[in-house]
Amino acid sequence: MINIITHLKSKNPNAVNNINDTAELLWTHLNNPTYNYNISQKLVDLITHINTPSYIAANSAGGAQQRQSDFLDHLNKNDNLHKIIVAKPLEFNTILDDIYKIIDPQDFFTPQKTKAKSTDFGKLLKTKLFNYSWYRSNDLFEVIYNQLDIIPCTCAYCNTGHMMSIEKLIKGKKPVEHYLFEIDHFYPSVRHPYFSLSFFNHIPSCETCNGKLKNDQQVAVGTHLHPFLDCFDNHYTFIPILGYGQNITVESVVLKNETSVNDNIIDTLKIQSRYGTKGFLHFAKANDLVEYIYKNRHKFMNNHPQQADFLASLKISLTGDKNKILYTPYEKLKRDITKQFDIHKVYVK
Ligand SMILES: [Zn+2]
Repeated sequence: MINIITHLKSKNPNAVNNINDTAELLWTHLNNPTYNYNISQKLVDLITHINTPSYIAANSAGGAQQRQSDFLDHLNKNDNLHKIIVAKPLEFNTILDDIYKIIDPQDFFTPQKTKAKSTDFGKLLKTKLFNYSWYRSNDLFEVIYNQLDIIPCTCAYCNTGHMMSIEKLIKGKKPVEHYLFEIDHFYPSVRHPYFSLSFFNHIPSCETCNGKLKNDQQVAVGTHLHPFLDCFDNHYTFIPILGYGQNITVESVVLKNETSVNDNIIDTLKIQSRYGTKGFLHFAKANDLVEYIYKNRHKFMNNHPQQADFLASLKISLTGDKNKILYTPYEKLKRDITKQFDIHKVYVK
C-alpha cells in the first residue's frame, strides 16, 4: 500500500542502489554456472530448436514459426534479454511495444472467458527460457530476496498478509532464510511469458492477492498501480463510516480515490470489498482503535497535558509513520481511521 522502494528506504538509505543491484544480481546469476542455468545459452538453444525442420513443418501455419523466430532473434540482439530481466516498471510498456511489432499476443496465449491459456510456444518460453518454477524452488530465490532485505513486510498490495520466512537448517552449514511469501507476476506470465523472470515484475504478495484474486487477469503499468512505481497511500484513503450507540463503532469503510488516478488494481484485488466488511474490521481491531481514540480525541489538542502519554499509547496500535505502512498488517487502515480524529496531524504525519 506504499511503494516497496519507500518501504526499503525506511531501513536502508541506499535502498535504490541496492534494488537496482539486486535486479542485476538476478541477471548475473541466471548466467552463473553455479546455478546451472545459463539463460543466454538457453535462448540460443531455443532458437536452434524452433528452426529444426520438424518444428518448422509443424508450426508454419499462418506464419507462426517465422514470428517466433523473429521474436527470439530480437531477444538475442542489442542486449534485449538482459534488458527484459532488469527492466524497471516504466520500461515494460516500451518493451511490449517492441515485442508486439514482431509477434502477436495470441502467439503466447489463447484468451478464455476470464482467463488465458498458454500456447505451445508460450509453454516453451516458460519452461525452456524464462523458467520461474525453477527459480522459485532454487536457492537463488533466497539469495535474491536476502539481498533485497525486504522482511519485515506485509503484502505490498493489500497490507494484510505477512511476508513470512523461516530459518532453513542445513546440516553442517549456517542456517539460511527460507521465504514463504508468494510472488505475483504483475504482468501475468501466461500472457507475458518473457516477463516471468523479470525482477520488477515480481511483487512479493499474499496468497489472496496473487492466487485467489489477481491470477492471470490483464494488468499493466498505466492502468494499474505498480508497487515498485506507485504509492497506493498517495491516492486512496479509507474513510470509516462510524456508528454511534453505547460504544462508537466502525460500521464499514469506504475507499476514496483522492487523486482520480487511473487505476484498476483496487477492483482487481477487491480491496473495497475485503476491507469493508464487519468481520474484517473486527479482525483488524478497527473498533478497538476507534473506541480508544474517540474517548481520548481531545488529547490531540495542542498543549493538552496528557498528550505525550496518549501519543505514546497509540504506538501500540500503529506507527504513525507513512513510510512504515508495510511493516505491520492493517497499518494503512488504522492510519486513515486515526486521521479522521487527528485533524491537525499531531500523530499521523
Ligand atoms: Zn495481499
